[in-house]
Amino acid sequence: MRIKKNDKVRVITGEYKGVEGLVLKAFPKINKVIIEKVNFIKKHQRPTQQNQSGGIIEMEAPIHISNVQLICPKCGQPTKARMKILEDKSRVRYCAKCGDMI
Ligand SMILES: [Zn+2]
Repeated sequence: MRIKKNDKVRVITGEYKGVEGLVLKAFPKINKVIIEKVNFIKKHQRPTQQNQSGGIIEMEAPIHISNVQLICPKCGQPTKARMKILEDKSRVRYCAKCGDMI
């Protein structure tokens, strides 16, 4: 998975193009992520005991990771995450631009 929870990303296509935000949730199996304040959808909610009237709530919907670009927390540039395997066999991500581990 190139993008993980709490990564900072920038949306590169669509309605939210250029918007930056934190990844709130990642869905590796479907290659989608939820990004804060991106891709709001309106959802009808049935009345519950807490909210007697129900109504419409807005929530973020997942978008495909091909629509976002990782922003490196070290150099602050839009980048690609590369993977490498360390001597102890653990896999780490590193920034293609500055080479720091992410
Ligand atoms: Zn970097």
